[in-house]
Amino acid sequence: MKYVVLLADGMADLPLPQLNHRTPLAAAKTPNLDSLARQGEVGLVRTTPPGCSPTSEVTNLSILGYDPKKYPQLGRSPLEAASLGVSVGKDDVVFRCNLVTLKDDQRGYDIDRLGPHVVLEDPSAGHIGSDDSRELIQELNNQLATEILQFYAGVSYRHLMVWIGGKSRVVCTPPFDLSGKPVVGGLPTGEGSDVLRKVLESAAAVLTTHPLNEERIAQGLKPANGIWIWGQGKAAALIPFVDRFGKRGALVAAVDIMKGLALAVGFDVIHVPGATGYLDTDYEGKVDAAVQALATHDLVVVHVEAPDEASHNGDLEAKIRAIEDFDARVVGRLLAAIESEPACRVLVLCDHVAPVSTRSHAPDPVPYLLYQRGGAGLPGTGSVTEFSEAAAKAGGKLVAEGHRLMEYFLKGS
Ligand SMILES: [Zn+2]
Repeated sequence: MKYVVLLADGMADLPLPQLNHRTPLAAAKTPNLDSLARQGEVGLVRTTPPGCSPTSEVTNLSILGYDPKKYPQLGRSPLEAASLGVSVGKDDVVFRCNLVTLKDDQRGYDIDRLGPHVVLEDPSAGHIGSDDSRELIQELNNQLATEILQFYAGVSYRHLMVWIGGKSRVVCTPPFDLSGKPVVGGLPTGEGSDVLRKVLESAAAVLTTHPLNEERIAQGLKPANGIWIWGQGKAAALIPFVDRFGKRGALVAAVDIMKGLALAVGFDVIHVPGATGYLDTDYEGKVDAAVQALATHDLVVVHVEAPDEASHNGDLEAKIRAIEDFDARVVGRLLAAIESEPACRVLVLCDHVAPVSTRSHAPDPVPYLLYQRGGAGLPGTGSVTEFSEAAAKAGGKLVAEGHRLMEYFLKGS
């Protein structure tokens, strides 16, 4: 038996008045998903355990069959570090380090200290390009790195800071929560915060006067004249997937957090050059890479980021388009490709609810769809006529502990 998981990040949503009180998934034209729903099992799965936040690392850990409650220190940053090839010791703390745009009420982009007049103008520094950002991160390393603190360049505004033997319980504020607000309200607090505050101050001083930022301002671009440190975590030792479930896995994805999670469970990560993490991604290339990987692996996960990005942008039209693309270009293409497989199971789901209306994540259970090709039907087969949040609820099945779905998918009969 071969296994394919098609994961549409943030696809589930809430009913919207402008869609006649239907959700984007229900309103989108999804003939392939609806056809599978009629032939397969549709239900709800709780990917966010009670008491956890519906972050990508929590919900995707559930989907891969691991109980997130057992890995409370696993943050997004150690996963991104794994994806970037940064090695992290067990006592090291990895922080996300955003390049940001700061603005002082009186001094404009010239930041001398993080006083009460400084506002976090843009948490992504105008979506700064990776070439510019690499140069700035390099400068931070030249001037601020010590034996215990180092910076690592990632993509665009997303970078990392590793604090060797650092304090992981320091309280940090996500920069998106501070957008347009004074930074003093969101500076780190608690054990270790003095170190981080000093780094934030020093980084602003280094970056404000950097010639590249002067050039950016002259070109009408936002300067990356500060950093913001948050989202910390420690590397977690996860039992390899193959030891846990006896199956060899691979992942096709564009985003670092998914690649890091896959590496952490011992999957092979397959890089597709045209995979961007948004609407312009190479869907066909991802599916073709997955089908190829199926020849040498038992299970392949294809992750599509676009619906979640559309939700974060509050763009309903883009979300519907992302779901329709997922249906036609991922689900449809995959089904055509596995016609020659004698026996194959397909699991379609999303990691968390991402309402366009709130532009964030929500902890509610998400719909899943389980389909088996070339074999007997599954127990819950044939109860609904389409794939949607309402149909999943009507299906009557709730997997209350999300990490149990993987076991059911692999072994259930
Ligand atoms: Zn998201």
